[in-house]
Order: sequence, then C-alpha cells, then structure tokens
Amino acid sequence: MQPVLKVQALNKTFRLRAGLFRRRSLKVLNDISFTVSEGETLAVIGETGSGKSTLARVLAGADNADSGQILLGCDTVEDDGRRDTGCRHIRLIFQDSNRSLNPGLTVGDVLDDCLRFNTQLTEHQRQLKINETLAKVGLLADHQSYYPHMFSGGQLQRVALARALILDPKVLVLDEALSSLDPSVRAQIVNLLLKLQKETGLCFILITHHLSLVRHMSDQVMVMHRGKVVEYGATGAVFDNPKSTITQRLLTY
Ligand code: ADP
Ligand code: MG
Repeated sequence: MQPVLKVQALNKTFRLRAGLFRRRSLKVLNDISFTVSEGETLAVIGETGSGKSTLARVLAGADNADSGQILLGCDTVEDDGRRDTGCRHIRLIFQDSNRSLNPGLTVGDVLDDCLRFNTQLTEHQRQLKINETLAKVGLLADHQSYYPHMFSGGQLQRVALARALILDPKVLVLDEALSSLDPSVRAQIVNLLLKLQKETGLCFILITHHLSLVRHMSDQVMVMHRGKVVEYGATGAVFDNPKSTITQRLLTY
C-alpha cells in the first residue's frame, strides 16, 4: 500500500542555557523515520521526556525540525525546516482541550475561524461544513452557540476533534488526547475515532501511555527513548516479543 505519511531522518536539537555563559544542547529528535499507510494507526510510546510531544508538534507544523523530511502523499511538507502547505493535512489534538480552546469564542466561531483562515469557502459553504463536522463527531448544530465552559470533558474532546477534522486532514496526531478522560467517555471517543478511520481512511499517530489503547487501536508501534527510535514494528509482534530492554520495561508497567 502507498504510504500516506513518510517521515525521513527528522532531527531537532534544543539549545538550553546551562549557567551564565554556557549552553547545553539537547537532541530531542534523533534521526526519526517512519511511514504510515492509509487507514493505519501508529502508536508512539516512551517515557516522559523521550521527545514524543516534540515529534507531534513538528509533524503538525507547530514547530520546525532542524533537518529531515516529512512527505504526505507525493508532496513534501517539510524539508530542512522549510514548510509550505502541509499544516492542514496533519492536525494535532492534545490532552488539555479545555486550555486549547479560547474561552471567549463559541464553538461556531472557533470552527468558522478555522475555515476562514484556511479555505476559500463562502459563508454558506462554511456553515454547511460546520454542521456536517459537528454531526460527524456526535455534536448537535445547536452546540455552535456554546462556549467551552458549557461542555463536559468528553464533549470538549469532541469539539477539539471537530476543529481538527474540519479541514479534512489526512493525519491526526493525538498527543495524550484521551488520557484525562474517564474510561467510559474514553471508550466512546475511541469508538468514534475508529469509525471515522474506517469511513475515511484517516491515519492516526497515537501518543499515549495507555497500553490497552495501543493494543486496541494501533497497527504499528514506535518506541522512543531520549529522542531515538529504539523499536518499531507491528503492534502484535512488539507486544509479543519486545526486542529492546526499554520496550520490555515499558510493557511491564
Ligand atoms: P515527551 O512528550 O516524550 O514527554 P517532549 O517532546 O515534551 O517529550 O520533551 C522532550 C525533551 O525536550 C524534554 O527533555 C524536554 O524538557 C525538552 N523540551 C521540550 N520542549 C522544549 C523547548 N521548547 N525548549 C527546550 N527544551 C524542550
Ligand atoms: Mg508529551
């Protein structure tokens, strides 16, 4: 199958102040490569500080890599720090959807802004798209006039999902997006995600420490440690026969 997303040799270093005059550099992404095919989910696991969120941000265009390539279909999204059109095709959802939404804007405003900044749709077309997207994530057209504080945690995650999906992305990056939800709500969102994936061939990059979610949702697993990939393979194979001691340790928790 033709890969939807191909990431090649991504590198990123943060320079940190380590005293008055000294600087220390921290290699947060070290030669990261992977591919994701249509309708597939890649899980990314690793201890805190291993570089998962940095990878998520670089993929979604919220941060730049120092070197490496991100290829979507036949288009190059990022090549040595230069990025053109890819942002709307790779979208990010992170844990705290409450804080990521402006409390002063209604859901309708948030979704409409997204369309106004990224598409040429007319007002009428935008309204249709907003209604369609809200229905897709299990919300009502009436929810457009609601402010974020009027929603429960699970509903807020649906709003975040609507904002991510409204631009018809090819890849959705979920950075601990399901972690703070209670189990029954999480199960509903997971089922919704799997249904959308089946219908549209959307790819997920699932960053989570919930191993049961990894097993349930992902086709492949990539294990990161200090910015490097220490293991990468089919989910069943990695769980049944983890090769790296780091993976073995992660899987025993
Ligand atoms: P994870 O999501 O796996 O916990 P992160 O990508 O958040 O890992 O962080 C990886 C490392 O990079 C950590 O050591 C973190 O302190 C560091 N880091 C993350 N963002 C920055 C930044 N903007 N400036 C400097 N260091 C950062
Ligand atoms: Mg993180």
